[in-house]
Amino acid sequence: MKRISLASKSLALAILLAGCADTSRLTDRGGYRVDTSVSSLNQNARVRYLVMHYTAVNDRRSLELLTRGAGSAHYLAPSVPRVVNGKPVVLRLVPEEKRAWHAGISEWNGRSNLNDTSVGIEIVNPGFTVEAGGRRWHPFSPNQIELVALLAEDIIRRHQISPDNVVAHSDIAPLRKSDPGPLFPWEQLAGRGIGAWPDRPVVDKYLAGRAPDAPVPVLNLQRALAKYGYSLPQHGGVDDETTRVVSAFQMHFRPGDISGRADAETEAIAMALLEKYRT
Ligand SMILES: [Zn+2]
Repeated sequence: MKRISLASKSLALAILLAGCADTSRLTDRGGYRVDTSVSSLNQNARVRYLVMHYTAVNDRRSLELLTRGAGSAHYLAPSVPRVVNGKPVVLRLVPEEKRAWHAGISEWNGRSNLNDTSVGIEIVNPGFTVEAGGRRWHPFSPNQIELVALLAEDIIRRHQISPDNVVAHSDIAPLRKSDPGPLFPWEQLAGRGIGAWPDRPVVDKYLAGRAPDAPVPVLNLQRALAKYGYSLPQHGGVDDETTRVVSAFQMHFRPGDISGRADAETEAIAMALLEKYRT
């Protein structure tokens, strides 16, 4: 039986290669034709990551920089999205199958140069202004977030992007970037299935009765963050690089305190994320 089956498969392939198969699946490409009647089972999406940004400049300047400047992104969510027949409109600047230049030097979970494998969404938002008390972050409008959520849901579904691969620019380039900042509503979006979020009971389990702001050995946190996906040293010392990475993690998962200090709650959140997404 096996021999017959193999023989019939070989015959089908031979017919196909000889050009006797169904001609309805032939695409004309000028000087030659492509037969798309057979498709391999062995394939997946090239896009593995979704990266969120803010532009730090206004609508006009954002569009200028992302279309004529040094960078680009697949999508741009305006400060006040236009609504056509009841549906908000996002600008698509680069087709998803092409590479946009939004991530720069970047690393996540052992992979680098995320421009190769990601879709980038830029959101018009001023970012922060430096004032006497420190940085003042500017909120996103509910209409912008609704548009970004609808867009992200669609991108995630089409490319089968896992929750832990929906990231901030500051997650993948923490020494250079702070966007989309601590006011980006990651928890709210995770409630709609967009991106990762730890389960509070699991965070409490790892907190194990400690005060949230109790100091912890930085080596534990360095190891946990590296295991989750961040690129950072694991030498047990508190240096500028570690503080910036911890702050980037806090901007995403504990926006109430983004000081970059290694504390018990930050460690517990990291452990809860590892339990949920890395086991
Ligand atoms: Zn960015």
